[in-house]
Amino acid sequence: MQIKKDRSALHVFETLESEVRSYCRSFPAVFTKAKGHKLWDRDGREYIDFFSGAGALNYGHNEERMKKKLIDYLANDGITHSLDMATEAKEAFLKKFHDVILKPRTLNYKVMFPGPTGTNSVESALKLARKVTGRENVISFTNSFHGMTIGSLAVTGNTFKRRGAGVPLNYTVTMPYDNYFGADFDTIKYLKRFLEDNGSGLDLPAAIILETVQGEGGLNAARFEWLQKIEQICRKWNILLIVDDVQAGCGRTGTFFSFEQAGIKPDIVCLSKSIGGYGLPLALTLFKPELDVWAPGEHNGTFRGNNLAFIAATEALSFWETPAFEQKIKQKSERVNHFLQSIVSNHPGLQGEVRGRGLMQGIACAGDGLAERICREAFKRGLIMETSGPAGEVVKLFPPLTINDQGLDQGLSILEESIQAALDQ
Ligand SMILES: *Cc1c(COP(=O)(O)O)cnc(C)c1O
Repeated sequence: MQIKKDRSALHVFETLESEVRSYCRSFPAVFTKAKGHKLWDRDGREYIDFFSGAGALNYGHNEERMKKKLIDYLANDGITHSLDMATEAKEAFLKKFHDVILKPRTLNYKVMFPGPTGTNSVESALKLARKVTGRENVISFTNSFHGMTIGSLAVTGNTFKRRGAGVPLNYTVTMPYDNYFGADFDTIKYLKRFLEDNGSGLDLPAAIILETVQGEGGLNAARFEWLQKIEQICRKWNILLIVDDVQAGCGRTGTFFSFEQAGIKPDIVCLSKSIGGYGLPLALTLFKPELDVWAPGEHNGTFRGNNLAFIAATEALSFWETPAFEQKIKQKSERVNHFLQSIVSNHPGLQGEVRGRGLMQGIACAGDGLAERICREAFKRGLIMETSGPAGEVVKLFPPLTINDQGLDQGLSILEESIQAALDQ
């Protein structure tokens, strides 16, 4: 067989894998190795990771302590697959999650394993809310993202993703997220009016589902005060509050749960992405004990017990045993925020706006395709970043929470160079 010299590095993927593939188009390299905040490709090029598997790698790649636990578990023939049979690995996770995460936060939640992905958690949350309340409707918000299966798509804002469903997406209503119409428009008042008025045409919903910071929808961060008011609305009308913490959770916004600083207590919480710690698939649905109306086996699945993920996830919770980790995230978040603010004022051509919270920040850029060009320039310079927002208008910084100052500074300076290069084009 003759091998054409000029064929793309991604030839195998381009010929054998479906057109549906996406991130390999933004980052056209074949990756072989990763550690901490770094990745390497087949040609030995090194990259700084400001993407972190869209938030699935908050503790970085191949974290040493988790790796050791996994290797030991494998070496001892620890059980890998068990459906939802009781295993020691799962027992240890449940116990540590209770002791290290729930108890110190005075959160009383039952834990459900809905299947290994974020959308599995969202589907189970919607199903449970409808079962508990006997209502069908669910309120979601503009620019929300909750996953790709039909129920999750029905509460997702993005038109392109929604169209993929191929069927009507029913039993949901979209309401404006905080700041959707700008600072002068009170979206709480708007929502309240619909609930109060018998002529509004809005059926009382089973639940309101939201992200406290919209990861895919443009890094819009709801104000704590707005979240508190949403919680009050839920209490007043007996609506269940679902916080989808799949992306913003596990420390991304500075605290383990993204809603902690707002002082709210959602009825149901969805967790996935970084809960597995090592990038292994795992999802949890948490809910108040009185909502636990499931019949045994009513919501089922083959991969609800990923024991390797439990092993890594249990070790990952060690990061949360002392306040030191949160403090470090806070310091790094402030560093990122200062840097982004200075970029925005030093590069007026960006017409940039800093968005987000914690280590979930970015810059919304004016100008068609500018954010995408910045990310392309960054990739050329060895920095992996993606865009967010309905028009891909936000440059999104998602470094591992464990990144050291040197790595963070290196990434930030590549970002500034890339912005300059994109503006010069
Ligand atoms: C990624 C994500 C999901 C879906 O998770 P998958 O594992 O991709 O199914 C749901 N909600 C939010 C907020 C997400 O960021």
